[in-house]
Amino acid sequence: MIALTYNKAGENKMKFTYFATILLLSSITNISFAQDCSQVIESNDAMQFNMKEMRVSASCKSLTVTLKHVGNLPQQFMGHNWVLSTTENMMPLTGVSMQAGAPGYLPESDERIIAATDMIGGGQESSITFDLSSLDSSIDYTYFCTFPGHYAIMKGSFIIE
Ligand code: ZN
Repeated sequence: MIALTYNKAGENKMKFTYFATILLLSSITNISFAQDCSQVIESNDAMQFNMKEMRVSASCKSLTVTLKHVGNLPQQFMGHNWVLSTTENMMPLTGVSMQAGAPGYLPESDERIIAATDMIGGGQESSITFDLSSLDSSIDYTYFCTFPGHYAIMKGSFIIE
């Protein structure tokens, strides 16, 4: 009788461990489903991004953004990049980017630039991975292209949620 009770307790303990493991595994799986820490955005020969806004999860420590140029025009005529800054800093950055000139149209270092891909032409793509955890979801961020004149159309809201 004593031995039976002991065995039953041991069995229950094993069951508990089993269920705890299942719970742990399912919560890890849920987290990985909830996080989409990479984004792909397309640009084209009509001076457009294919997204008006980009929503990313605040649970992502870092984010990888891949910019694709799905057009055919070369970089010197229809170059695109994906640059992220606070919405407040976008206009001043378009100014210094124009001054920086071809081919990159971006200053080498400017602390207002949070992230930037390379300037690319038709058929090319460029990726950038940056720290998301240091950004503040209560601040307005905007992504845009710094090729001269493009920011008027090529911009979107960057939303951390
Ligand atoms: Zn552009």
